[in-house]
Amino acid sequence: MDGITIALSKGRIFEETLPLLAAAGIEPLENPETSRKLIIPTTRDDVRVVIVRATDAPTYVQYGAADIGVAGKDVLIEHGGEGLYQPLDLNIAKCRMMVAIPAGFDYEHAVRQGARLKIATKYINIAREHFAAKGVHVDLIKLYGSMELAPLAGLADAIVDLVSSGATLKANNLIAVEHVIDISSRLIVNQAALKLKREKIVAILDAIAGVVNANAAKSAAVKSCAVSS
Ligand code: ATP
Ligand code: MG
Repeated sequence: MDGITIALSKGRIFEETLPLLAAAGIEPLENPETSRKLIIPTTRDDVRVVIVRATDAPTYVQYGAADIGVAGKDVLIEHGGEGLYQPLDLNIAKCRMMVAIPAGFDYEHAVRQGARLKIATKYINIAREHFAAKGVHVDLIKLYGSMELAPLAGLADAIVDLVSSGATLKANNLIAVEHVIDISSRLIVNQAALKLKREKIVAILDAIAGVVNANAAKSAAVKSCAVSS
């Protein structure tokens, strides 16, 4: 098949990728929030979108079931990035990976004492690397659902999770104490597809890069306005 398949997850990544794809003349013909279809045709005959779980996007692209995809840096680090080109930071779905603790837990003290901490997270590799670099001994507990519950239910001393507004942490009486890494989503491309379908893929990449660069220039202008006024 010389058509292009794009792997996207529902929700924020889909929403924030739409204007980028539009610049390449690609508009999905159905909304995955309301449609049950997992393969969605687009305004371009030669391009379709497959709807995947966010953590599955790198896997679809790695094995060539999708030529292009969008995935968070969190997901890409956990996946390992094998078989993927990551040509472009899309600057969307931005948030921070943080260590958070229940209010009242003296994290700094525990770290100074060399205590062994129980950490619940979905991001085992990122968490392992973070605490190893700090020289903190941890037992990592892999979770798939709401990590906020773990310290409240007594499963863990702390969590490593994504934070944007901080509202969920606050609602559960948790406090972010340490920044681990800044997160945004990236374009990923299957390495073989880039060779075999080079012309089409490069045209899509260029159109998307154009919007990403224009957005960056716009927000830089807004910032310098704010500084000078
Ligand atoms: P679900 O929330 O449906 O269980 P998910 O967590 O895998 O699925 P999303 O919540 O849509 O999927 O997250 C997809 C990506 O968006 C994450 O991998 C991350 O890069 C980014 N992300 C996650 N949470 C936030 C947030 N609160 N603000 C901004 N970006 C986020
Ligand atoms: Mg989520």
